Amino acid sequence: MTTTDPTDLVASQDFKLLINGELVAGASTVDVVDPSRGVAITQSPVADRNQVEQAIEAARAAFPGWRDTPIEERASVVRKMADAIEKAADGIARVVVLEQGKPLSGARDDVDWAVLWARYFAGLRLDPETVRDDDETLVQIHRRPLGVVAAITPWNFPFFQAVYKIAPAILAGNTVVLKPSPSTPLNALMLARILADIVPAGVVNVVADDGSVGPILTAHPGVDKVSFTGSTLVGKSVMRNAADTLKHITLELGGNDAAVILDDADLGKTLPEVFKWAFSNNGQVCISVKRIFAHSSIYDHVCDEFARMAGDVKLGNGLDADTDLGPIQNAKQYETAKRLLEVAGKDGKIIAGGVVDDTPGYYVRPTVVRDVAENSVLITEETFAPIRSIMSFDDDDEVVARVNDTPYGLGNSVWGSDLERATKIANRLESGTTWVNTHFALAPDVPFGGRKQSGSGFEFSREGLLQFTDVQVVHVNKA
Ligand code: NAD
Repeated sequence: MTTTDPTDLVASQDFKLLINGELVAGASTVDVVDPSRGVAITQSPVADRNQVEQAIEAARAAFPGWRDTPIEERASVVRKMADAIEKAADGIARVVVLEQGKPLSGARDDVDWAVLWARYFAGLRLDPETVRDDDETLVQIHRRPLGVVAAITPWNFPFFQAVYKIAPAILAGNTVVLKPSPSTPLNALMLARILADIVPAGVVNVVADDGSVGPILTAHPGVDKVSFTGSTLVGKSVMRNAADTLKHITLELGGNDAAVILDDADLGKTLPEVFKWAFSNNGQVCISVKRIFAHSSIYDHVCDEFARMAGDVKLGNGLDADTDLGPIQNAKQYETAKRLLEVAGKDGKIIAGGVVDDTPGYYVRPTVVRDVAENSVLITEETFAPIRSIMSFDDDDEVVARVNDTPYGLGNSVWGSDLERATKIANRLESGTTWVNTHFALAPDVPFGGRKQSGSGFEFSREGLLQFTDVQVVHVNKA
């Protein structure tokens, strides 16, 4: 395994919080670990409660002025943000590799998608809708911003997630306190530095933490909306915390997506695609294919091909050009992956993969498990690691029931040559998105969100923008 030394990428950078337009040191610091080597490469500032209060206060103070700024001007700030990110893309992507572990091409996607989404939102407007305009009455529906938005993000697509929350939030006229994941704060702090020169003081604040700030934000009376992306477990506590002040909330949570491979699927095309969306980013994706259902007539072939493809994957440091998959993102997830490997050995048959022992980095090979007991936690819980189970099914009704037998409902995909049959099955699957002959096909203008316990509300698209607004009806009696 190669070990590119990336420390020079962060050595020259001064990572600061952004509070009320000022770049400031944290009250303390926390180590940021390079997961490819398991060593700290720098420290991130950590905001204490006092600094979080200052950030919320700054966002509150900035809100009336920003709300009353014409939307064209707000859009111009979002466009400037996109332009500045584009200019800094290479450096940000390298820092994402360093702290997150993913290969550079994936980190570049993280940044490029951020630019694409920001530009998309900058093009949207919130014109009032006239529902009645006659001699006597004018009734219009206006979309008003909510106030202060707490944006809380995880570590799997950290830069993209921060930007796709900030862009629609501020376009709609809200102000923001961003809290990135404690295990990938550096890219958000690079964003803070970019925004300090572009966004009026207080409109966006960035508070990195050691894991303690989330609950402060979600309970704080000065916060009007929480836009949260993370695990279902934490999402439930966000909902409880936000209840006392009846905050608006959008929750993008965990998933247990299935790929259903029908007997008439074009396997030459289908299997590499399903494999990619099962193991991309080491399976640490909310909409990874986590359960694979292959028709019984092709089951052995699908298992063998998955094992072969898993054996071909090159693990390594994300900055090395020939790396397909980097390390697991953090030590805690690495321990979880090792525990799940033990479960896989007991509850099924491992036909490829396993842990990599000869390195201090957090490496696990893509692991394929067949003949899995369906009550195994590998199937019933979200497996946020590169461990994937393949199950066999016989008929369409049966597979629909088994795919839907989960509290999650984020995404699913159906793969087959008969598009009518595949689409009919897709329509019956209980998920926010169901794809046919593709997976992970996201776009800025298409809503994305989870059903059941995978979330509440939507992001992306006009639907996602509207989640950062409230309705105000203005009724004028002309008579
Ligand atoms: P996590 O829930 O542990 O943490 C997410 C964020 O919440 C972090 O910033 C964390 O510091 C913060 N947090 C932790 N406890 C909190 C609390 N009590 N109150 C408020 N904030 C708190 O998730 P993670 O491990 O960072 O990310 C992995 C999870 O995120 C997976 O379950 C994955 O499926 C999910 N995810 C969902 C989507 C989606 O769009 N549906 C996208 C990416 C990841």
